[in-house]
Amino acid sequence: MSDLTSRYGSAVMNTFGPPKLVLERGRGAHVWDEDGKEYVDYLGGIAVNALGHGHPALVEAVTAQLQTLGHVSNFFASRPQVELAEKLLTLVGAPGKVFLTNSGTEANEAALKLTRRTGRTHLVAMEGSFHGRSMGALALTAKEAYRAPFEPLPGDVTFVPYGDAGALAAAVSDRTAAIVIEPIQGEAGVVVPPAGFLADARRIADEHGALLWLDEVQTGMGRTGRWLAHTPSGITPDVVTLAKGLGGGFPIGACVGLGAAADLLQPGNHGTTFGGNPVACAAALAVIGTIETDDLLHRATVVGEKLRDGLAADARVVEVTGEGLLIGVVLSEPRAEAVAAAALRAGFIVNNATPTRIRLAPPLVLTDDDVAALLTAWPGILEEAY
Ligand code: PLP
Repeated sequence: MSDLTSRYGSAVMNTFGPPKLVLERGRGAHVWDEDGKEYVDYLGGIAVNALGHGHPALVEAVTAQLQTLGHVSNFFASRPQVELAEKLLTLVGAPGKVFLTNSGTEANEAALKLTRRTGRTHLVAMEGSFHGRSMGALALTAKEAYRAPFEPLPGDVTFVPYGDAGALAAAVSDRTAAIVIEPIQGEAGVVVPPAGFLADARRIADEHGALLWLDEVQTGMGRTGRWLAHTPSGITPDVVTLAKGLGGGFPIGACVGLGAAADLLQPGNHGTTFGGNPVACAAALAVIGTIETDDLLHRATVVGEKLRDGLAADARVVEVTGEGLLIGVVLSEPRAEAVAAAALRAGFIVNNATPTRIRLAPPLVLTDDDVAALLTAWPGILEEAY
């Protein structure tokens, strides 16, 4: 065990178990550990480092903003805050308003409070869901192991099987405040719902005057080759939550209320000291600007397809799920932990999301050489793990 790993054990609360590595630096999609060993970061800080590590546009934007105006309280506005809110509304493609936060959990917490302002309390969430770890976000998160130690959680939540429109229709009533759905379930291992599910959810919500809230914390901001994963469904949700890739590694999230939902939170209803921080907003604007100028949505689509085809070309892989650079590899046997360990030894960071599913969420700037390196190593990684 390295010196830093043992100091971590003594000084950092043990919420994650022992760290796999101590990482020292990064460049593009590559990181180096404290022994100087290089890895291709196919997890991207779990769908966060959209521009990879040390991207000049991000470094320059953050540096310039910190030198200009580092923080203002909520009593004041700042240019990056307003520009980011406007930009997010343009990307979402509907009129609305934005509440800026510091994380995905906080974006969801804001959305949860927003739904309460409908005067209703009942929520319908999905089995397999992950929405965060604060008490409110946890109340919407299905995983029993995360929930059980903290019960009672805020109540009145019904869980239905992900993608089951019939079960959803049966669970939603005129007392339902909102339906909350991830367009692709990330933490569950990149699970994609049947085509038409989001449109069904929109219709069911409308039938009962409930809000449709899409959690795009993991799927949003270009990850799937589109700004938002739900776009092909053709629907407009009432609430969209964002974080992760939004700041490219700088902590920031957003709760976007659309239409009438934009005005449900009123003065005094919610707040945060750091939400809308100008440096974080400047980081997000730099990420969005770079995705636009470098055509990274297209790149995510093309590179994602290449990866998917290559990863699927092994008999031990049952299916490859996801879109763009949010990729799930379904294994024929529950060997995901061994696959992730073998990948790490071979110099690739991947995530064993479930016993049978490997998740990849690399930077959108992944190079062709990075792709070739993983696909060349892939059969050997699987061989070692099986
Ligand atoms: N929602 C989804 C869909 C997520 O995947 C996550 C994190 O994995 C969260 C919310 C929580 O975000 P954060 O960890 O930034 O609080």
